[in-house]
Amino acid sequence: MIDAAPAADRLAELQAAFEVFTGATSMLEAQYRALQAHVEALRTELDEKQRALTASIERQRCLEAQALRHSRLAAMGEMAATLAHEVRNPLGAMELFTGMLAEEVADRPAAARLTGQIASCIADLNHLVTNILDYTRLPAPRRAHVALDALVDDALLASGPSLGSGVRVERRGAVGATCALDRGLVLQTLSNLFRNAGEAMAGAGILTVAVEPAGRWVRVAVADTGPGVPPGCEETIFAPFFTTKERGTGLGLAVARAAIAAHGGTLAIRPRPSAAAAGAVFVLTLPRDAALEGES
Ligand code: ADP
Repeated sequence: MIDAAPAADRLAELQAAFEVFTGATSMLEAQYRALQAHVEALRTELDEKQRALTASIERQRCLEAQALRHSRLAAMGEMAATLAHEVRNPLGAMELFTGMLAEEVADRPAAARLTGQIASCIADLNHLVTNILDYTRLPAPRRAHVALDALVDDALLASGPSLGSGVRVERRGAVGATCALDRGLVLQTLSNLFRNAGEAMAGAGILTVAVEPAGRWVRVAVADTGPGVPPGCEETIFAPFFTTKERGTGLGLAVARAAIAAHGGTLAIRPRPSAAAAGAVFVLTLPRDAALEGES
C-alpha cells in the first residue's frame, strides 16, 4: 500500500517547481521580447545611419563635381575674357570700315543690302563680346545721384529703333526721385531687358515700362506681350549661358542681375497671374536715393 502523505508532499513540490518554472519562463519571455524590441530599435538606427551616410557620400560627390565644374568655368571664363578683349579691337575696325563701305555703295541696292547684313553681324558680335566682358568683370558701380524717370526715358529712346516698327511703347508712372546709381550699368540693364522684350515679341506687340515708388524702394516693371517664360524656368533664365535663341549668349540676364545686385537691388520675373496670361514682366527693384560716400 502506498503512503498518502509523501505522495501529497511530492505533488506539492512538483506544483511549486512548476510554478517556479512558469515564472522563470514568463520572465525569460519578457526579457526576450525586450531584447527583440531593442534589436529592432538598433536595426532602425543602423538603417537611418546608413541612409545618412549614403546621402553624405552623395553630397560629397556632388560638391566635388561642382568644385571641378567651377574651376573649369573659371578657366574658361578667363580664356573667354582674353579672347573677347582681343576680338574687340578688330571688331571696332570692321564696324568703321563697313560704315565707310556702306557710304560707297549707297547707290547700289544689292551691295547696300549686303553691307547692312555685315553691319548687323558685327553688331551681334559686339553684343556678345560686351556681354562676355561684363560677365567676367565684377560690376563695381560708380554711383551718382540719377533721376530715375529720365534714365528710363533715355534707355527707351536709345533702344527704340532696335525694337522693331511693329512694337508700340507705353510708358507709365513716375517716381520723381533720384537714386544713387551707376547710370551706365542701369542703362545697359534696361537696354538688355528692352532688347529681350523686342526679340520675344518678334517685332510686333506692346512694350510697357512702368516706374513706381515702393516705400524705401523704386520699381521699374518691363512688360511685353510675347509668349512669356515657360513655367518652371523663372530662375533658370538668369543662369549664365542659358539661352533659347539660335544666336543668343545667355549672358544678358545674368549680367543684368549682377549689375542690379551690385546696387543692392533685385531683378526678377513677376509670377504669371495665371497659366493663360500672356507675356513676361521683369521687375527691377532699386533702393531710393541714399547719401553717397563723402556726402554728409
Ligand atoms: P539671350 O538673350 O542671349 O538668350 P538672356 O540672358 O538675355 O540671353 O536671356 C536668357 C533667356 O531668357 C532667353 O534666351 C529667353 O529664353 C528668356 N527670356 C529673356 N527675356 C524674355 C522675355 N521677355 N520673354 C520670354 N523669354 C525671355
